[in-house]
Amino acid sequence: MDAVLDRIDHDPELKVVSQDTEISTSKRPSRAEAEAAVRTLIRWAGDDPTREGLIDTPKRVTKAYEEFFEGYDQDPEEILARTFDEVAGYDDMVVLRGIRVESHCEHHMVPVQGTAHVAYMPNGSVVGISKLARIVETYSKRLQTQETMTAQIADAIEKYLDPKGVAIVIDATHQCMSCRGVKHQNVYTITRQFRGCFKEADQERRFWDLVRG
Ligand SMILES: [Zn+2]
Repeated sequence: MDAVLDRIDHDPELKVVSQDTEISTSKRPSRAEAEAAVRTLIRWAGDDPTREGLIDTPKRVTKAYEEFFEGYDQDPEEILARTFDEVAGYDDMVVLRGIRVESHCEHHMVPVQGTAHVAYMPNGSVVGISKLARIVETYSKRLQTQETMTAQIADAIEKYLDPKGVAIVIDATHQCMSCRGVKHQNVYTITRQFRGCFKEADQERRFWDLVRG
């Protein structure tokens, strides 16, 4: 949430909008306020939020939002804090292939779904592999652009693990591309960050060989 508030603080346009509409950006709204906002959107869509099938929808939507956006409450430093030095001399890359990515585009708030491949070259110590998947979740379960989340995942692993290198590839489809406007079907967006030793051509090639199986 801090990142969002930060952005609003530094974006004069967003600030003007928030002042005009008297929406407080300084604290999270209450659950009742969030549910009222969903009822407004149902009416905006052209339906009646008081009819039987929709009566509990605001409750379900706010609950779903807690899950969709739980990344705002996760701390990457805490997730990557525990490392292990006892690796019997293991000195090669660690690759997690095919981590499911479920995110929401920050421009239309519709799903972005795909796969992430995450690799790092340990610098003496390793981290629990499930923690790498959780870092992907920390940044994907927010309002995002694919470019930003790819860089943020790489930044966090670089900063808190201090490895010799980190490589992130995300391959995803954006529902805002396939379901609205120009309706491009089956378009996959690929973003990548190669840092440290993964900038070397042979390490990058080895990474791709492992990811492609
Ligand atoms: Zn979008």
